Amino acid sequence: MLQQTQVKTVIPYFINFTKKYKTLKALSKSNDREILKMWEGLGYYRRARNLLACTKQIVNNYQSKLPKTLEEIKKLPGIGDYTGNALLGLVYDMPTIAIDGNVKRVFSRYLNKETSKINFEKLISSNKTKLFNTNRNADFVEAFMEFGALVCKPKDPNCITCCLNNSCKYFKSNKKVDISIKKMIKDKNYDIFCYINKKKQIALTKNNQISFLKNFRLPVIKESNGLFKKDWKFLTNYKNSISNLKLNINLYYKFSDKIPASYNWYSLTRNKEFIPTFTKRIFRQVSNLF
Ligand code: SF4
Repeated sequence: MLQQTQVKTVIPYFINFTKKYKTLKALSKSNDREILKMWEGLGYYRRARNLLACTKQIVNNYQSKLPKTLEEIKKLPGIGDYTGNALLGLVYDMPTIAIDGNVKRVFSRYLNKETSKINFEKLISSNKTKLFNTNRNADFVEAFMEFGALVCKPKDPNCITCCLNNSCKYFKSNKKVDISIKKMIKDKNYDIFCYINKKKQIALTKNNQISFLKNFRLPVIKESNGLFKKDWKFLTNYKNSISNLKLNINLYYKFSDKIPASYNWYSLTRNKEFIPTFTKRIFRQVSNLF
């Protein structure tokens, strides 16, 4: 849940989730619909689907025990090097480090060297004895990430009180390395076409081509080509940001009782189904027509 998401946003979701699913087995008996409903509003829904798929595999193929090697653990859905190492360290106390942005920044500052010039795997394996001289490696993995988040922060690191300032090259150097990460923001223009009817319903389909919205029920979304949209009425223009995409959206609508075969009608106001935030925003705009 914390991937790309702030702790304060996650807390209520985490509490509800762990109240409902107290064991791995309980979670493995859930389904996409149920789990997405609990995740509603948190975004990045692939995480929820992967978590469920992962849990089912652990319960069914590994007797409810997490595999003990990175190679095996990475066969699970959604688990890469970062999560795999974090799990091995946190669950089995193994000597691993989860190399996230925080950890990279700490190393980068400590060595006063650009992140892109550091081979982290090599650095960690050649300093194993220094780094893993504890029998509480689970705490070490967590502490390293927290150290980056709370002490060696992205902006204004607490160097004066930091326990590493005696040996930290960044602290001592007059020519400090630049660790700022510039996020590449891409601007995209999309047209969204909504079939609606007099019963305050909107037609949605899973048949969408936009990669980051695959698997969700939506009206048809197309990249804008600037051409006049015959038969469709313009409703509004608004902006929406998803990850590193800045979307400029033109919303069009058409009252119709007939819809293409791949569509289903959904109520604009009463829905027990999971609806991602992106779709909810479209619902709100279209509801203004009634
Ligand atoms: S001394 Fe400053 S830059 Fe160096 S590790 Fe500590 S907080 Fe980071």
